[in-house]
Amino acid sequence: MTSTPRAHEEALIELTLSGGACDTAAQYRHRMLPNSMKKLHLAHVPVAGKRALIRVDFNVPMEGGVITDDRRIRSSLRSIRSVLERGGSVVLMTHLGRPEGKGFEGDYSVQPVAARLAELLGELAPRGVTCAGTSCVHPEALQAVSTLKPGGVVLLENLRFEKGEKKGEESFANALANLGDLYVNDAFGTSHRSDASMHAVPLAMRAQGKPTCAGFLLDAELEFLLERIARAQHPFTAVLGGAKVSDKLPTIHNLMQKVDRIIVGGAMAYTLLRAKGVSIGASRVEEALVDQSKEILALAQSRGCEIMLPVDHLCSSAFSAESARKVCAGAIESGWMGLDIGPATIAMFTAAIRASRTVVWNGPMGVFEMPPFDAGTRAIAQAAIEATQTGAVTIVGGGDTAAAVEEFGLASQFSHVSTGGGASLEVLEGKHLQCLDALDGPATVLG
Ligand code: ATP
Repeated sequence: MTSTPRAHEEALIELTLSGGACDTAAQYRHRMLPNSMKKLHLAHVPVAGKRALIRVDFNVPMEGGVITDDRRIRSSLRSIRSVLERGGSVVLMTHLGRPEGKGFEGDYSVQPVAARLAELLGELAPRGVTCAGTSCVHPEALQAVSTLKPGGVVLLENLRFEKGEKKGEESFANALANLGDLYVNDAFGTSHRSDASMHAVPLAMRAQGKPTCAGFLLDAELEFLLERIARAQHPFTAVLGGAKVSDKLPTIHNLMQKVDRIIVGGAMAYTLLRAKGVSIGASRVEEALVDQSKEILALAQSRGCEIMLPVDHLCSSAFSAESARKVCAGAIESGWMGLDIGPATIAMFTAAIRASRTVVWNGPMGVFEMPPFDAGTRAIAQAAIEATQTGAVTIVGGGDTAAAVEEFGLASQFSHVSTGGGASLEVLEGKHLQCLDALDGPATVLG
């Protein structure tokens, strides 16, 4: 998730600190940030002899009971290790898939997740990871939690087996709130939801006088998606792509107030091109949004935010890699569909990205799953990496975009790749994440 530039920056901060007013890089960072964005960090909460109730997002993809991608488990290891290494014990809560909310369903059990987590923790969890009972509030689960010793790890069964989770029920939240001495939110991927474990549980724990804080993963996400964007260096470029303009019009609306330019590629560009009166052939378009797109384009112009649209396209005669292909400059003839940005557009977009000091990217430029229509997305990734190497802050959000850079083997070369698809988009839209209200502010603000 984080990268070499981030580690480099932490090292620089540590250097700056020697003899200074703060004793950790996290405290230094917090001192430099506006108050409203700071949340108590797990690293600042004493945990020795305590049970940390951690909401993680272990909603991993599975096929036939086998985990096909364990990134979401690995993303929260830092928080889990932090508690175990400091003499605490861990009670983990997660959802997995979409069970009906009527009790145990074998297909959605978190047992395989417990096994994988035990492997990843290795010697740090010598007694493994306990997953007892058929529900998160089953007597066997409660027994496992009440007998936890320092260094012990319990993973509660899928929260969504209980209907109280999605409904945010108070009695359900109170039962969970009794399972920890402190609450940690490390589930950024779920942070746009107000499920009981995200909001009612920390509120109940706070009412009991227990600390409620952000884990390492949530802290890193907020640092990049809120704080770095709020204090972005200019030129600031947003790159938006992907399938549906309907998902991203609110994002364009919010970002145009912050950025110098918005680059738009992917299928969503065709609705905007249609709004400008450009022929787009058989390319994917959302007709119902053409008028709204016209308004957005006019608003951006009046606010001095440049919207860059493709000037050429890699087109195909059908949605397939085997069909006839050609580059269309400007208008796309009928019978052809744009499946990727063309070479002139790649040159134009990448030059703008390389010249930027802050880049936020959400959504692929073309059908990246189907080469050769991956070229535009690869070129954007490469340009953003080059910008990162010259000191720009580059943030990648969105499920498909994160999957694309991971598939290209490039994920570690950006400043930050977000673990949350829907959540990162909501943050970029300027929406408030309700779950953050339930977390405490910073413990100490020095200096
Ligand atoms: P998420 O919504 O999961 O956070 P995202 O924002 O990164 O992901 P989406 O809006 O879901 O992206 O769109 C990704 C999809 O858009 C990909 O499957 C890709 O193939 C498709 N896509 C991109 N360009 C085109 C195009 N020109 N024509 C058709 N489909 C396209």
